[in-house]
Amino acid sequence: MDLRSDTVTRPSEAMRLAMSQAEVGDDVYGEDPTVNRLEAETARLLGKDAALFVPSGTMANQVAILSHTERGDEMFIHRDSHAYYYEGAAATLWAGAMVTLLDGPEGLFTPETLRGAVRSANIHHPRPRLACLENTHNRAGGAALSPDAVDPVMAEAHTLGLLVHVDGARLFNAAAALDLPAERLVCDADSVSVCLSKGLGAPLGSLLAGSVPFIEKARRYRKWLGGGMRQVGVVAAAGLLALENRHRLAEDHRRAQRLFHGLLDLGYEAWIPSHPTNMVMIETKGPAEQLTGAALERGVAFGMMGPRRIRLVTHLDVDDGGIDQALEVFSQMKGFIQNAG
Ligand SMILES: *Cc1c(COP(=O)(O)O)cnc(C)c1O
Repeated sequence: MDLRSDTVTRPSEAMRLAMSQAEVGDDVYGEDPTVNRLEAETARLLGKDAALFVPSGTMANQVAILSHTERGDEMFIHRDSHAYYYEGAAATLWAGAMVTLLDGPEGLFTPETLRGAVRSANIHHPRPRLACLENTHNRAGGAALSPDAVDPVMAEAHTLGLLVHVDGARLFNAAAALDLPAERLVCDADSVSVCLSKGLGAPLGSLLAGSVPFIEKARRYRKWLGGGMRQVGVVAAAGLLALENRHRLAEDHRRAQRLFHGLLDLGYEAWIPSHPTNMVMIETKGPAEQLTGAALERGVAFGMMGPRRIRLVTHLDVDDGGIDQALEVFSQMKGFIQNAG
């Protein structure tokens, strides 16, 4: 039982079959029909004019930052966001961007916080250029950010003259949780990235979507970073199936709810955000390694989000029986944890 991440899913038989039968061509020449279909379908789902297939979510974010900024420009991002917290110093290394960190509840800063951080046009200041959001927000426990919360931030960013990029690695989880079309969550964004390798079963692949001139620029930066691929329709075929399967994410959310309530009943300090998705967090009394180690011995793997925080993620390869098994292991570890505290 692997609850470490929704990236651990393996392609199904049907997906492998689709991959083996994919029509392919050289995508650097724009001649891979399956990639072209995947890009068109993603653009349609996200309500954008164009999209670009890239190998990873990190590359999607970094290509977006490169395309939106020039060296020395300032980008504003929540302190807990993936594009800052988990991507090394990539925005600084590749784009030469000055990264300004903002705070706010559930992974989102408010319009007021953003306004307070953006300085006037002045030779002493960097040029404020980009605001990056993340939906769902991973370190905030997989929080889906509703349009009520996000729209005013995007509007304020635009008023301040900034562009907006949404890291939507799990945007389809947010759409499922809020029962809204994905495009509704990013209609005011200048760009959005999505991952096909999270909970949807594809072995790899992300897409970046935006306007036609933006995607033209992004295509150039993708090549620059070494992300131009050739007969990659074999992977895009898996991606098309992943997109078709996106409505299944609601099942992962239902199982995460059952896991959450089961953990509370067992006395664990578990929490979920106000719009939960496929994650459950646990605050541990002792070092989190003790709990992860004890669970691994009993056949359940999960990951740490800090010295005393554990993250459990439901996905395609965890069924109802898997949740029962995980709760049984947590029940066995109850005494162990109380002693560890
Ligand atoms: C996983 C993830 C990414 C990209 O990760 P890769 O491993 O590079 O595909 C970006 N943003 C968020 C929020 C993620 O969870």
